[in-house]
Amino acid sequence: MRKIAILGSTGSIGTQTLEVARENRDVEVLGLAAGNNISLLEEQIREFKPRLAAVWDEDRAKDLRARVADVDVKIVCGMEGLLEVSSMEGTETLVTAIVGMIGIRPTIEAIKAGKDIALANKETLVTAGHIIMPLAKAHQVSILPVDSEHSAIFQCMQGNEGKAVEKILLTASGGPFRGKKEEDLLDIRVEDALKHPNWAMGQKITIDSSTMVNKGLEVIEAKWLFDVDVDKVQVVVQPQSIIHSMVEYVDGAVVAQLGTPDMKLPIQYALYYPKRRYLPGERLDFWSLGRLDFEKPDMDTFYCLELAYRAGREGGTLPTVFNAANELAVQKFLDREIKYLEIMQIIEDCMSVHKNIKDPDLEQILETEEEVYERIESRR
Ligand code: NDP
Repeated sequence: MRKIAILGSTGSIGTQTLEVARENRDVEVLGLAAGNNISLLEEQIREFKPRLAAVWDEDRAKDLRARVADVDVKIVCGMEGLLEVSSMEGTETLVTAIVGMIGIRPTIEAIKAGKDIALANKETLVTAGHIIMPLAKAHQVSILPVDSEHSAIFQCMQGNEGKAVEKILLTASGGPFRGKKEEDLLDIRVEDALKHPNWAMGQKITIDSSTMVNKGLEVIEAKWLFDVDVDKVQVVVQPQSIIHSMVEYVDGAVVAQLGTPDMKLPIQYALYYPKRRYLPGERLDFWSLGRLDFEKPDMDTFYCLELAYRAGREGGTLPTVFNAANELAVQKFLDREIKYLEIMQIIEDCMSVHKNIKDPDLEQILETEEEVYERIESRR
């Protein structure tokens, strides 16, 4: 039995993780955590019978407690609740499918408790990779990538030495606005940005994909996961999202991982690594596929990708600024408080005034997040 807990069980990755658990039958779900969606969490509790479930908001936790009074489950709330689920006794792996840098503390807590991490929550690694990776090493736990590109890179690296890697080729779909220029993006509505051509995902990552901020976060995520400089990570636009990423080796060989776009593959691979298991679903048919296309990313229009490289190169608190500014700006765009292009302008503005702190501790990271939020709130 694989014993797991999931942070963000009601989201896109969380529900697909539960599908994988349902299909495999040898995954025991001991803990679940969600934000607001207590109706879905109730269904999940009834089906998977975890011992512990966390809801962010205290009132919703009370409501959920009443709803599942007939079930043997403890309901907890807030950050304490997330930490309890992360470090609970009996689990081997924590699936971090929560969105945003709120995932940092629970991830640290889980590592300290000796849990392997199946990591979808890239914001945690982007902002605190210098804390997370050495901590995982010290506690001898694995950080297994769930992000499809990083899972692909990880799969391409199996059987090869890290030092033989020449370059990581991180693929990108280019999002819904591929080929567009700044003047085409002036009046983008929330509905337009939420239409991803190939993947159905949560709202924040869908907007991040449209601005290419997601790819920027992934460049920094790759730096930490695979211990490479960001300049060894090259973004290649592959509009069909069939090649999930590639690794070029010192002898010139390029190893790629291909497949139909389905997040259950990387989720299942992370849960059962190093084993491969049967996964039902569509298979690639190269005869009907016909062709694969490649392009250079447009870093002039989607300049946040360039900003991410800068943040990744300089390190310190700069990646936190990049990430936190994006998190709040995207929320404001989704709430229809700012225009689409302001997301990128806000990130650039916050980065331009920041005084970088080298090797920040957790407190400094969280203070930087607060400072960024204050700056954005005082904009108008
Ligand atoms: P969703 O928005 O679909 O889900 C987010 C989950 O986090 C929900 O379960 C939500 O709960 C929960 N959550 C949010 N805030 C809190 C909180 N304060 N306390 C507890 N739970 C909280 O996001 P995705 O699944 O799309 O993305 C999750 C992470 O995975 C992100 O970091 C993303 O970048 C990454 N990722 C996602 C991919 C995808 O295909 N979706 C692909 C690769 C990476 P609720 O809904 O109940 O409020």
